[in-house]
Amino acid sequence: MHPAGLLFITSRLLAKSASAISILMDKVAIYIHIPFCLKKCSYCSFVSYGGRRDFIPRYIQALKKEISTRVVDNPVATIYFGGGTPSLLTVGQIRELSDWLKANFTFDNEIEVSLEANPGTLNKDFLSELRQMGINRLSLGAQSFHNDELKMLGRVHCAEDIEAAFHLARNAGFTNINLDLIYGIPGQSLMKWEETLKSAVRLGPEHLSCYLLTLEDDVPLTQSISDGILPLPDDDVACEQYELAEAVLSEYDYEHYELSNWAKPGFRCQHNLFYWQLAPYLGFGVAAHSFINGHRRANTGKLDTYLDNPFSIEEDNELDKTHEVAEATILGLRLTEGIDLKEMDCRFGDMFSKYKPVFEDTMGLGLLELAGNRIRLTDQGRFLSNEVFWRLLPDS
Ligand code: SF4
Repeated sequence: MHPAGLLFITSRLLAKSASAISILMDKVAIYIHIPFCLKKCSYCSFVSYGGRRDFIPRYIQALKKEISTRVVDNPVATIYFGGGTPSLLTVGQIRELSDWLKANFTFDNEIEVSLEANPGTLNKDFLSELRQMGINRLSLGAQSFHNDELKMLGRVHCAEDIEAAFHLARNAGFTNINLDLIYGIPGQSLMKWEETLKSAVRLGPEHLSCYLLTLEDDVPLTQSISDGILPLPDDDVACEQYELAEAVLSEYDYEHYELSNWAKPGFRCQHNLFYWQLAPYLGFGVAAHSFINGHRRANTGKLDTYLDNPFSIEEDNELDKTHEVAEATILGLRLTEGIDLKEMDCRFGDMFSKYKPVFEDTMGLGLLELAGNRIRLTDQGRFLSNEVFWRLLPDS
C-alpha cells in the first residue's frame, strides 16, 4: 500500500468536508492490495513481489474469500486498487474483483474507483475496458521524466511511456488522472526536478502527488549509496525541491491540499480523505490495513501466508481513545486546511481538549496557526511537520 494521510479545501469538496466527518463515518473506503510487480524497483520497501505473477489467480480467490467474510453495512464511497502494480491484472481479473465487491457491498452513487498503474503496462483496449467497468480515476506511477533517474530507481518504464500512457488514458475517457512524482533522488538537481514538474503539468493531470524518496536500509539503492556508487541525497536540496513544487504547481493552479498532494479544484483524492480524517476504511489483501468502529487490523505481510490463509493477521485490536485522538489530530494536520476544532471537540470531547496547551506552545514556535475555527500548520510548520507531530504523540 502507498500510504498517505491528507486533506482538502474549496468548492464542492470543501462543502462536502465541512460537515464531513459525520458523513464519512457512516461510509467506508475499500483498499485492495495487489502485491505483484514486473520487477522490484531499487528503492522499494512496499509489500510487492517481482516475478510472482503466476500466483495472481490464487491471490484473486484468496481476496474474494477475505472480502466475503468482512462485509459491513456502510455504503462504499471509494475503492482503491493499489500495490504493487494492479495494472498487471487482466481486465477479467479486475472485473472479477469489482463484481465481487458489488455483490457483497452497497455502493454510493458517486463512488470514486481508483486504480494504480505503471506506465509501462498499459494499452488502449485495457484502459477503455477499465473505464467502461466504472474505474473513474487512474494513478500513474510516473516518478520522474528523466530516463537516467528512472533507471537509477529501477523502474521498468521510460519518460516516453508516461506521455504515451497519459494520452491513452485520456483517449479512453479518464478525466481524473494522478501522476506520482519523486524528489530527493540521489544527484537530482533543482533544475532536473523543475523539468520533471513542468513535464508533468504540461500533460495536464487533475492531481499530482510529490513524495520525498525515503530509503530503508535493506533496499539496493541504499547499498549503492553506502558503497559510494551514488551520492547521499541532500536534505537541503530536498527542502528546496519541495518549495519549488509549491511554487510551480501553484503557478499552474493546483491547490496544495495536503503535505504531499496537489489537485485541480474538485479533484482531491476522496479515498485518501478517509485516511486523513481517520474515517472507516477496510483493507483487503496481503499487508492491508483497516480501521473501522474503533478497531484496527493489519493483515499478514507475507504473500505465501496470505495465499494459504487469507484471514491471517499481524494486528487486530481496539484503538484506545488516547491513540485515536492523536492519530486523528496528526493525520488531520497533514491537510493544508488543518482540523476543525469544534468538530474534534464533538468527536473526542475531553480527550481532544487536552491538546490545547500543546497547540498554544506550538503556535508560539510559529509552527501552527489558527484560521477561524481551524488549526493548521504554518508554512514553516509544513517543513517541520515531524516536529509538530512528535509533540502530539501520546506518552506510550
Ligand atoms: S512498481 Fe511500485 S510497488 Fe512495484 S516495485 Fe516499483 S515501487 Fe515497488
